[in-house]
Amino acid sequence: MTIQWFPGHMAKARREVTEKLKLVDIIIELIDARIPYSSRNPMIDEIIQHKPRLVLLNKADMADREATKKWIRHFADKGVRAIAINAQAGEGLKQITAASHEILKEKFDRLKAKGVKPRAIRAMIVGIPNVGKSTLINRLAKRNIAKTGNTPGVTKAQQWIKVGKEMELLDTPGILWPKFEDQVVGKKLAITGAIKDTLLNLHDLALYGLKFLEEKYPDRLQERFKLTALPEDPVELFEHIGRLRGALGGGGLVDYDKVAELVVREIRSEKFGPLTFEWPEEGLAE
Ligand code: GDP
Repeated sequence: MTIQWFPGHMAKARREVTEKLKLVDIIIELIDARIPYSSRNPMIDEIIQHKPRLVLLNKADMADREATKKWIRHFADKGVRAIAINAQAGEGLKQITAASHEILKEKFDRLKAKGVKPRAIRAMIVGIPNVGKSTLINRLAKRNIAKTGNTPGVTKAQQWIKVGKEMELLDTPGILWPKFEDQVVGKKLAITGAIKDTLLNLHDLALYGLKFLEEKYPDRLQERFKLTALPEDPVELFEHIGRLRGALGGGGLVDYDKVAELVVREIRSEKFGPLTFEWPEEGLAE
């Protein structure tokens, strides 16, 4: 579902996360491993302040492994612990408790020294829509937790979910807005399916996707569309794909709408293999 974010919603979302911050020891920030920069809320650092955090690169199954490794290193260089997971299949989840323990070790040791009885770590998941927050919560809870309308501002009584003996998780995640002012970010969110019913023109999105594949994964593009060479002109590429796949309209002419739809769908459904749309060396995060 695509949320329309208005300033009022953003203020409310921020307020909700800020309030819940007080309840937890650690923030689990969920981002999309394919777009670690674009899938972060633009004000996340300001919102969570100095609260300890763990970054989870979710949907790692759909991302380029090499890139994911680099992102983990990139976060480590900035002093932030990041882990790659696949919330859908439940892969990598064991590391969450272990890493949270390590991050909070000093704080908990201090409490222990003061005579405070050891207790479970309290955590909250935050992230933009569609990064997999509900999927992860359900996985960690080992049951289905109803999704609260996915709209910031829809409140219900907070519940804690037990994750093993050592962690307690708030059952509702903090939903924050994406970086939508930037057009390229918008394209990346759309091509990965984070925004589905997009206002972006499908042709533009398909062109963006093809250009990206041409630059970063030319072999996969050539192989999938049986291209001996990459055409200079995108129109030629559209024509080629249309004829190859029989995406034709009246008079046997290539139907560009069908081609655009097909290209976007195939990129989203991993027909070109796992793809990462942004790499740390591009310097986006700075
Ligand atoms: P939320 O809006 O952040 O709560 O996101 P959801 O949990 O509803 O997930 C959005 C979509 O991403 C759903 O279709 C999930 O099945 C899918 N999804 C979530 N995590 C993963 C993952 O690790 N891998 C893959 N391939 N899909 C995932």
